[in-house]
Amino acid sequence: MDDEKFDCIIVGAGVAGLAAAMTLARNNMKFLLIEKGEFAGSKNVSGGVLWGHDLAKLVPNYWEEEDAGWERFINHRRLTFMDDESTLSIDFKSAHFNEPPYSGVVVLRSKFDRWLAGKVEEAIAESEYPMDSFIATNIKVDEVLMENDKAVGIRTGEEEFFADSVIIAEGVNNLLTRQVGLQDDYVPADHVLTGIKEIIRFDQNVLEDRFQLNGKSGMSNEFVGYATDGVEGGGFLYTNRDSISIGLVLGIKDLREKEKSPHDILSHFKSHPVVADTIRGGEVVEYSAHVVSSGDMRIMPKELYKDGLLICGEAANLLMNAGKAIQGMDYAMRSGILAAETIVEAKERGDFSSSTMKEYRTALDDSYVMKDMRGFQDAVQMLHQPMMYKEVPNLMCGFGKKFFTIDNQPTKKARELMSESVKEHSSWWNLIKLGIKGGRSL
Ligand SMILES: Cc1cc2nc3c(=O)[nH]c(=O)nc-3n(C[C@H](O)[C@H](O)[C@H](O)COP(=O)(O)OP(=O)(O)OC[C@H]3O[C@@H](n4cnc5c(N)ncnc54)[C@H](O)[C@@H]3O)c2cc1C
Repeated sequence: MDDEKFDCIIVGAGVAGLAAAMTLARNNMKFLLIEKGEFAGSKNVSGGVLWGHDLAKLVPNYWEEEDAGWERFINHRRLTFMDDESTLSIDFKSAHFNEPPYSGVVVLRSKFDRWLAGKVEEAIAESEYPMDSFIATNIKVDEVLMENDKAVGIRTGEEEFFADSVIIAEGVNNLLTRQVGLQDDYVPADHVLTGIKEIIRFDQNVLEDRFQLNGKSGMSNEFVGYATDGVEGGGFLYTNRDSISIGLVLGIKDLREKEKSPHDILSHFKSHPVVADTIRGGEVVEYSAHVVSSGDMRIMPKELYKDGLLICGEAANLLMNAGKAIQGMDYAMRSGILAAETIVEAKERGDFSSSTMKEYRTALDDSYVMKDMRGFQDAVQMLHQPMMYKEVPNLMCGFGKKFFTIDNQPTKKARELMSESVKEHSSWWNLIKLGIKGGRSL
């Protein structure tokens, strides 16, 4: 039996599971990575920009590869406020972001995860145990096997596989995390969102001209206001190589209460005159939807480890959207790396009990992932307030219309125009309260 036992079984070949697998392979560990999809990435959805430099740790010089799994690097960021006819944007583009390692790359998950899985296969082949580690797809893990509250393996259908440790990297629908008793059965709907996305294809030259892209440069654009038709959430648009990803992230509770369908809201977003101009001539080639965590720490599992067990990525509800960007993939990647490093340490010590496993929690707490999650909880609460996706975008656009109108009348000062817009769409008192909250939390 011991010969058949792995050092680790990883459940889920998303970003977290693949990062863990790569780290284990590089450390000559024997592992089994199991994915229920037909191939890594086949079931995954992201907007999506993978932020930060961790990808370069996993695949050094990934940007030099001819057919790497990423689409474009980001050097152009835009945050857009919308009312029903206008947009007002904060726009930042800089050559500062032009050199690798890039601070963000746009990915399409079915391509990116598959490419990263290929890199893991290469790392397995180069390891000391090329015949003892595997990526197995098209297999759903039904149960984590527990003995005396210690993870000892997994069951899939009638088959059981054993290991000294299990990493759960199953993503936001964390059924196994619940099965092992680390997540309450019921996560309230106001703490999860639904993400929907379309891929719209263009002639590459048209895309590059329209978005002023040069070579592999790309743009990310977040939207608040009209995009979500009064429902909690926001919109996004990212440029891929010859297409864009356009979509929404919407509060599930709010959707239900307002009896609106995500698809109708996406059509509403795309019909906005400014957005319609932007996507003109493109062809919708793909549609996908996926649940996404809100980043509220109250829905994190009770703990992220047990004897022989670690939980990483969105299974642990690691995600942040404090208005600047959605960060889920980079959190998944870092947590996957840290989980695997803990398993490597456990093997060296010959101790897979929770006294070693808890070092994962310490490492995660000390990393930017938990520092940001703790540090920006107030911002998460603030950004989910109706004022952020209703009054603020309306008053910003209201101001824009007044400020940019030249009508051969005496011109009012900007201060006066802002005051008029605030009174029309909200009140100074509400704005001051929001400003204080924003100042403290962002
Ligand atoms: C519309 C949308 C836009 C987003 N935009 C961004 C963005 O721009 N930037 C960003 O960083 N993040 C973004 N995110 C969030 C990001 O996609 C997630 O945080 C990230 O994918 C989490 O990675 P993960 O590896 O933890 O989970 P996942 O990527 O969900 O992977 C989990 C894997 O486990 C597999 N699995 C699950 N259960 C089992 C089982 N029982 N047996 C076998 N396999 C199993 C699944 O098939 C899947 O492959 C977005 C999400 C959505 C929905």
